[in-house]
Amino acid sequence: MRLDRFLCRSTTLNRQQASQRIAAGEVTVNGKPADEARMQVHEDNLITLSGKTLSLRPARYIMLHKPANTVCSNVDDNHPSVMNGLDIPNAEDLHIAGRLDADTTGLVLVTDDGRWSFAIFNPKYLCQKVYRVDLRDPINDQAISQLQQGLLLQGEKQPTLPATVTVVSPQRVSLSISEGKYHQVKRMFAAVGNRVTALHRQQVGALKLDLECGHWRDLTAEEAASFY
Ligand code: URA
Repeated sequence: MRLDRFLCRSTTLNRQQASQRIAAGEVTVNGKPADEARMQVHEDNLITLSGKTLSLRPARYIMLHKPANTVCSNVDDNHPSVMNGLDIPNAEDLHIAGRLDADTTGLVLVTDDGRWSFAIFNPKYLCQKVYRVDLRDPINDQAISQLQQGLLLQGEKQPTLPATVTVVSPQRVSLSISEGKYHQVKRMFAAVGNRVTALHRQQVGALKLDLECGHWRDLTAEEAASFY
């Protein structure tokens, strides 16, 4: 990782402050002064700031309850980012693991651990995501069996993997899928002639959303480890 990022992840400095301290010659890497913020370093390197040896903070794992009309990216002309106003320290070091559409609500995971987000949202690992789905038309048996078997979405070459469908009421189902194709849930219901009117992610793996809308919390070590 870059030296300035290492400083952010091992101190309370933000990127700009880290760059300033590096430029001021206060940082050494393996005993040599380092004045390039973009220098690549490894966590095994001996890195000091004003003579003090630094070590990386443990990785961060956060859940948040995404409100509607927010986006899981930093740039959007129409909606604010889901991270706006949440007051998460050093949020610029974090990324969202598995995006939701602007109008989808529910469980979003945020981390600075790329391997962790890869394990959750790579279809190879078959991590289940559970959605509460509100529908325009009542669900029927044929649609349920198509969803359960797997169906071909428009523009795809492979059918979806088998899903689990639990009927909550005629126009509300709980859908569990292990993939994360673009607009997957909406496209699955479009493929069976229905339409999603509201979508809410309730669960990822064993982790269930337990927050008020617009709130966040750190995951416990056990919760974070449950994905590895
Ligand atoms: N599937 C969708 O269609 N939208 C989402 O936001 C998540 C899953």
